[in-house]
Amino acid sequence: MNDTTPVQGWSELLLALPEFLLIDAHVNGDDELVADVELSRDVQACPRCGVIELHQIHDWRRHTIRHLPVAGRACRVRWRKRLLACMEGCGTFVERVASIAPGAVWSRAATRAAVATSADNIPINTIRREFGVGWNTVMRAVTAAAELVAQVRPTRVGIDETVMTTGRLTTRRRQFLTALVCLDTSLVVAVSQGRDTGSAKRLLADHAPDAKVVACDLFSGFKSAADTLEDAIVVADVFHLVRLGLTALDEVRRRRQ
Ligand SMILES: [Zn+2]
Repeated sequence: MNDTTPVQGWSELLLALPEFLLIDAHVNGDDELVADVELSRDVQACPRCGVIELHQIHDWRRHTIRHLPVAGRACRVRWRKRLLACMEGCGTFVERVASIAPGAVWSRAATRAAVATSADNIPINTIRREFGVGWNTVMRAVTAAAELVAQVRPTRVGIDETVMTTGRLTTRRRQFLTALVCLDTSLVVAVSQGRDTGSAKRLLADHAPDAKVVACDLFSGFKSAADTLEDAIVVADVFHLVRLGLTALDEVRRRRQ
């Protein structure tokens, strides 16, 4: 694209960002689409005094944002921003637009797409590579979206611990997670670090306060945590019960042989 005259509508066609003007676009050495955009000169609200005016241009800034892939290509949007000086004299501020959060590393559309991808159980690391952002950026977006989802209130739950660290367990301190599972959907409702009465109690109080049945192994810590729920019946789960039975049987057999 050699013509550098901004054309209204190209940004919408190529990037689905109708509020911008597409100034230039090229494919870089990493096979990414690099789109240079800017806003049309228009009124902006000063974030301090709120005056909406055609504030004076003081300087320019460059803000590079990751955006949705275009025709399978990763996309970088280079936004040439005006640094405006407020007419009322409260100082300078940069232009703002709804589709890109101030200082964000990726567009809101890219964030939404990444969160939607994570709903299909695609690992965060895969999503991170696809959008070219950091692991923490994706995780923050997923966590924020998860907080908007209505909380599940399971009535039949299971609680058990699992080892978190893998590898050489003899040289590394073993770390445990306690997981709370909904027995009706077989989904993990919540996890917490550690395997003690305290973490089990917190899990149950925060995520299953209405539980009617709590299944756990025969660890007294979990049993006493489950006992704190008034209406809940505490049962030993089948897996641990059978294993205990088999161990007892094994012992008897060995004694008799
Ligand atoms: Zn102002």
